[in-house]
Amino acid sequence: MPHSSSPGPSRARLQVNPIACSGHGSCAELLPELVSLDEWGYPLLADGPVPRGLARRARRAVRDCPALALRLAPGPGPGRP
Ligand code: SF4
Repeated sequence: MPHSSSPGPSRARLQVNPIACSGHGSCAELLPELVSLDEWGYPLLADGPVPRGLARRARRAVRDCPALALRLAPGPGPGRP
């Protein structure tokens, strides 16, 4: 029987709202594996789903974003692009 805590790739993806983002950079400090900063201090997100091992820190980065500009979006379902 499948259950939600089974291992495997996560489909959640990090997304940033570039209008709301004020370039605090705390997301890159919390999650350097997935977020780097451009020359102006705005986040560049790694492509693809958040690895399960980083999901906890990804949720924390979302929670701690002072501009509420970062979110975890569900990925496409099976068979969808
Ligand atoms: S923590 Fe939020 S406001 Fe700061 S750079 Fe990241 S997304 Fe932008």
